Amino acid sequence: MEHVVVIGSGCAGWTAALYTARANLQPLVLTGAQPGGLLTTTTTVENFPGFPDGVDGYELMTRMQKQAERFGTRAQFGTVEAVDFSTRPFALTVDGERVEARAVIIATGASHRHLGLESEAKLETKGVTYCATCDGALPIFRNKPLVVVGGGDSACEEANYLTRFGSVVYLIHRRDQLRASKIMAERTLANPKIKPVWNSVVTEVLDVAQDKVTGVRVKHVKTGGQSVMDCAGVFVAIGHVPNTQLFKGRIAMDENGYIVPAKSAATNVPGVFVAGDCADHVYRQAITAAGMGCAAAIEAERFLAAQKG
Ligand SMILES: Cc1cc2nc3c(=O)[nH]c(=O)nc-3n(C[C@H](O)[C@H](O)[C@H](O)COP(=O)(O)OP(=O)(O)OC[C@H]3O[C@@H](n4cnc5c(N)ncnc54)[C@H](O)[C@@H]3O)c2cc1C
Repeated sequence: MEHVVVIGSGCAGWTAALYTARANLQPLVLTGAQPGGLLTTTTTVENFPGFPDGVDGYELMTRMQKQAERFGTRAQFGTVEAVDFSTRPFALTVDGERVEARAVIIATGASHRHLGLESEAKLETKGVTYCATCDGALPIFRNKPLVVVGGGDSACEEANYLTRFGSVVYLIHRRDQLRASKIMAERTLANPKIKPVWNSVVTEVLDVAQDKVTGVRVKHVKTGGQSVMDCAGVFVAIGHVPNTQLFKGRIAMDENGYIVPAKSAATNVPGVFVAGDCADHVYRQAITAAGMGCAAAIEAERFLAAQKG
């Protein structure tokens, strides 16, 4: 039986593993289908402290893994298919095999919604991105027209943030008004660098042949008319889906599926803790996920120590 199982191998998972390993708990990390998590899909990370020249996302995650393994973490490539938190020890089904654990840390992250276009997938990291805070300051976007797709609070935040870098920010939204909160919508529409493009959807990201973003093809949803807008970057901000389906009905979550901790990193099930983007719809950053991983590990360690006593 395991002392601690960490579900997920992103920033939250490896940090939780590092702390529980240093507490002599020999954690088992179940990596899921994406070992290293979301950061492995990006190139340079410029805002993770300790790397003044930036660090490649894949390299950062490899370093986190090595650091956790140095203190006794074991990694297993595997996906958790089912959990039973009603028994003690807890029981997890991992690729058909049963794994038992006295404590579990959920660090399964969140996936961003995609537009679902073939051109979008082909140009991801070549001008198509899902995080303005992460990528907005990159040189390829400086003083160039940029596109944000979406109409909610996130899209507005991304658009406002990007006005620091782009020459103009087109906010493309399928409706004729923003879904964002009133204050955010007002701030966005008052920004002279943001140009809303109403009743419109992106039907293609250009230009796959050039292997970089040069523009978007846009369709007006009412007239069906098509046009091309030049831009250097497309920031897709149409929402995130936390990877928490597995825990539905067992772990308390909000209406969007984000896990809601009962207190600090503890969930409603004693012995089950949570960290990272699967419980964070606000910041969604590597450093915040890592911080939450640290908190979950310390809570798990205290929980196990109290059980012993
Ligand atoms: C393109 C891009 C660029 C980014 N750039 C930056 C940046 O520059 N700076 C920054 O701070 N942030 C950046 N981010 C955000 C950052 O990647 C996330 O905030 C961070 O990865 C969240 O860490 P996490 O551990 O919570 O989740 P993730 O990194 O999403 O990891 C989740 C893990 O859970 C695993 N998993 C999921 N389901 C299961 C299951 N059923 N069983 C087992 N494992 C499972 C997955 O395989 C994965 O390993 C970027 C994100 C993207 C997409």
